Amino acid sequence: MDIQEVKKVLENCAAEPFRLKQAARAVFARLISDWDEASDLPIALREQLKKQVLMSSLTEIARSQSARGDATKLILRTSDGLIIETVLMKHQTGRNTVCVSTQAGCPMQCAFCATGQQGFKRNLTSAEILDQVLHFARELNQQAERVSSIVFMGMGEPFHNYDAVLDAISTLNAADGLNIGARHISISTCGIIPGIERLAKEARQINLAISLHAPTDDLRDKLMPVNKTYPLSKLLPAIRDYLQHTNRKVMFEYLLIEGVNDSQQQADQLADLLADERLYHVNLIRFHRTGNFSSSSREKRDNFFDRLKQRGVSVTHRVSFGEDIQAACGMLAGKINS
Ligand code: SF4
Repeated sequence: MDIQEVKKVLENCAAEPFRLKQAARAVFARLISDWDEASDLPIALREQLKKQVLMSSLTEIARSQSARGDATKLILRTSDGLIIETVLMKHQTGRNTVCVSTQAGCPMQCAFCATGQQGFKRNLTSAEILDQVLHFARELNQQAERVSSIVFMGMGEPFHNYDAVLDAISTLNAADGLNIGARHISISTCGIIPGIERLAKEARQINLAISLHAPTDDLRDKLMPVNKTYPLSKLLPAIRDYLQHTNRKVMFEYLLIEGVNDSQQQADQLADLLADERLYHVNLIRFHRTGNFSSSSREKRDNFFDRLKQRGVSVTHRVSFGEDIQAACGMLAGKINS
């Protein structure tokens, strides 16, 4: 939903200024799926909005649900024919998290990531980012449920589309928008330092996650080309500055890849890297086979976890959703399952 388009239509109709607020409330708070449902707007305005503003900039072309029923992946098409993916994760606690894409494709070329192998098409607009959330929010609303948290961990690097992402977050967060608390919104970056610096200066309590995946520059250079521009020797000081500004916990995402980054020595190197910082937390993520890489065994994952714990690192195993529908971390590739 492009609220700027709504504004234009209302202005052209010489509508009173408060009508925009009413329209926005109908879309984001009441989660209407047709302008006819915006009953507080005069019929003539509803008719104009119906003619000129689509309820969504995205069209659903396929969906799949995990066997456990806890993950739903949507394949969506933009108005210019690009394919993106969005995932709803339903937690046992009753929370509903939407994993949002910020770009069609991704330019970052991380070696283990299906999206990275697709190449980059373009940045998504803030309306396209919001529409991914609205898609699920409207469905959940029918079941008297709501979206409780958002993670910017889908296709794309959010800090390469900073303004659109922060603009979308303003609406997600607003009391008369989707009213999702900033503490329930997380941005994950592969390590774009200027984005981290900008986020540190925002007066918002958004969570920051860093896709780390390697404890040394040598290995990170191979897995994540971004490391050549922003190596660990620059990234870690930038994160420390972020902590000084925000005093907010930083998550480090670490995919465990068989024979690549999952040894006891690498657990020690990771512990050395993150030592002495109480606001760091490591999320160990089970890797899902893509390309030439495969998942570390259960035993290795447990040993890696235990080693970090012994070294005093705050660490959890992240719950994985949707592996069977290619919706898990690193698997979003914009392909329709046959
Ligand atoms: S892991 Fe993230 S940043 Fe890296 S290629 Fe995939 S989508 Fe892009």
